[in-house]
Amino acid sequence: MTTRLFRSSTYAVSSLQRSLSTAAAATTELKPHSSHPRIDPKGKNIQWVFLGCPGVGKGTYASRLSALLGVPHIATGDLVREELSSSGPLSKQLEEIVNQGKLVSDEIIIDLLSKRLEKGESKGESGFILDGFPRTVRQAEILTDVTDIDLVVNLKLPENVLLEKCLGRRICSQCGKNFNVAAINVKGENGNPDISMAPLLPPPHCVSKLITRSDDTEAIVQERLRVYNEKSQPVEDFYRTQKKMLEFVLPGGIPETWPKLLEALNLDENEVKQSATA
Ligand code: ADP
Repeated sequence: MTTRLFRSSTYAVSSLQRSLSTAAAATTELKPHSSHPRIDPKGKNIQWVFLGCPGVGKGTYASRLSALLGVPHIATGDLVREELSSSGPLSKQLEEIVNQGKLVSDEIIIDLLSKRLEKGESKGESGFILDGFPRTVRQAEILTDVTDIDLVVNLKLPENVLLEKCLGRRICSQCGKNFNVAAINVKGENGNPDISMAPLLPPPHCVSKLITRSDDTEAIVQERLRVYNEKSQPVEDFYRTQKKMLEFVLPGGIPETWPKLLEALNLDENEVKQSATA
């Protein structure tokens, strides 16, 4: 059993290594970032990681940055959901794990990620913004062994806001876009500012097609938050000591957060768009 696990884990790691080294080779330049990174959007030197609790908005901001910077947004949660909804051999097992709010094994996640990177590589993708990976120290160590991550963005919100956001999350089953029906107004505690977030409502043609993620129930979200604190908080410490982390407390909803996040990343949206068309 141990040998089999060890073999499969070694296989998964080496296949991740292959996929990532090709992704890295395709980037023009890698620059280590300090706590206040400078980004050269023309260089596409982007190998970023987004960390943060369930519901914080990793997917929202990682996908906006991915569209702006022209690098793929790879969310391991999406890879898990795709596999789960397929009729593949792992489907049943993944469904059980996800619906208990637990983490999928490092081996399975690394295997799914390697396959996704290989697929991207065959389409000429370069760089990546990872969302939801790494989520355990072991995953972070494997990632460090196989490639250079130049920036880790750690998004933060108070826990009561995270719960409301998860419960308000809706997805259009047709176009796949994410919305949120929660109107959040939370009083700041311990000297922290109040937080308000307007709902992000769907357009009329999506309204009748909205679905809720099966793991966005109160009990499962509470368990996911507990698991995050146990397994993923140490990943924050791992990157904090490497001085690669940008800590970012969300000031509100998308209209308030997006410009502030770009500012924290030293990115000028117009400049990036112009350089992309030049
Ligand atoms: P969340 O909103 O909790 O951040 P995600 O969409 O990122 O949700 O992930 C959904 C589920 O997929 C997780 O609860 C977990 O079961 C699984 N998962 C995603 N990424 C990982 C990972 N890196 N390691 C282990 N399990 C993962």
